[in-house]
Amino acid sequence: MASIKLENITKTYKNVKALDDVSIQIEDGEFFCILGPPGAGKTTLLRIIVGLEKPDHGNVYIGDEIVNDLHPSKRDIAMIFQNLALYPDKSIFDNIAFPLRQQKIDEEIIKEKVTEIAKQLKIDWMLDKLPSQLSGGERQRVAIGRAIVREPKAYLMDEPLSNLDALLRLEMRVSLKELQTKLSETFVYVTHDQVEALSMGDRIAILNKGRIQQIDDPERIYKLPKNMFVATVLGSPPMNFLECRVEVTGGECRIIHEGFILSVKDKNAIEVIGKMIGNEEGLVLGIRPEDILLHNFGGKERIEAEIYVTEPLGNETIVDVKIASNVIKVLADSSFEGRPGQKIWIEPKKYKFHFFNKKTGDSIFHTTKETELEIL
Ligand code: ADP
Ligand code: MG
Repeated sequence: MASIKLENITKTYKNVKALDDVSIQIEDGEFFCILGPPGAGKTTLLRIIVGLEKPDHGNVYIGDEIVNDLHPSKRDIAMIFQNLALYPDKSIFDNIAFPLRQQKIDEEIIKEKVTEIAKQLKIDWMLDKLPSQLSGGERQRVAIGRAIVREPKAYLMDEPLSNLDALLRLEMRVSLKELQTKLSETFVYVTHDQVEALSMGDRIAILNKGRIQQIDDPERIYKLPKNMFVATVLGSPPMNFLECRVEVTGGECRIIHEGFILSVKDKNAIEVIGKMIGNEEGLVLGIRPEDILLHNFGGKERIEAEIYVTEPLGNETIVDVKIASNVIKVLADSSFEGRPGQKIWIEPKKYKFHFFNKKTGDSIFHTTKETELEIL
């Protein structure tokens, strides 16, 4: 059992900054996910924790100890890779037992431990088989068993499910979460799949171009994204963005889009959004596809629009809607009927608005039910 702390870690390869001043505190027993696109620096981060790479700057702590100069074998951390390598000519039992035999542990104890872990992972019936006789998911369980048998202080997993088919991924997601709950050990789980991160992580760190964008629990990351990058990395389809202009007159701030105007009277909102007036950087309004209602007729706080395309997905339908010269995506239920070109009115949930600075991408304000705001 151990906490893991990264303090101002920077790592450069020739001309690529793989990690740029990364600080993370992972609690003991936490299921911590690192989510980011390919090339974000996720693998580099894990390799630094386990000791396969040395950072240019910064410290790595395991528990209270700085381990910068500690050899990987002394760090007592298990790493499970995307392309797992089992010994093809050894039985499943021997594969799992391998780390213990290296430690010259008594065969009686090895048998006991391997059997117990195999039961836990539901692979006890295949201990005599060879890896080639197993499916991808079963082999992944064996690799995990081989890691568990060492009783390491923490587990690092680098996209362990990305080579499995969709159905198996779904099943393994549940069993990995279950396993971590049972072991109550620290898991650092790297993925580029937002669903994995949202469904498994106690907390998620979003990484892009070597920099941490946000660290929070899944709900906060989804509801209160700190910037436009985080807002698009989570959510399917991703958040819609509409560029707007800002005007302030007296106690009112107007957010002007080609297709509608928002009138804001909320003091807190005016204070931060008002700073964007006359600012060429511009304001971006963000709204998620599931936070917009569709109507066949106009009314208060409804914006006139036109259906552009519909994408039926079986259990729901994505409706692409044209407002002035922008097209946004709206999530409707599967019973939605409408043809391209047809007039439609949209009603965005005005307490689910996100405002961003266009130039920096940083979040400026998230509305709530208390925010005084009207759609004109
Ligand atoms: P991820 O796992 O998020 O896809 P990586 O940590 O593998 O990202 O890589 C981050 C960046 O560092 C990428 O631009 C990659 O090309 C670069 N990089 C990683 N390892 C090396 C290496 N050994 N030599 C040179 N560049 C590397
Ligand atoms: Mg990687």
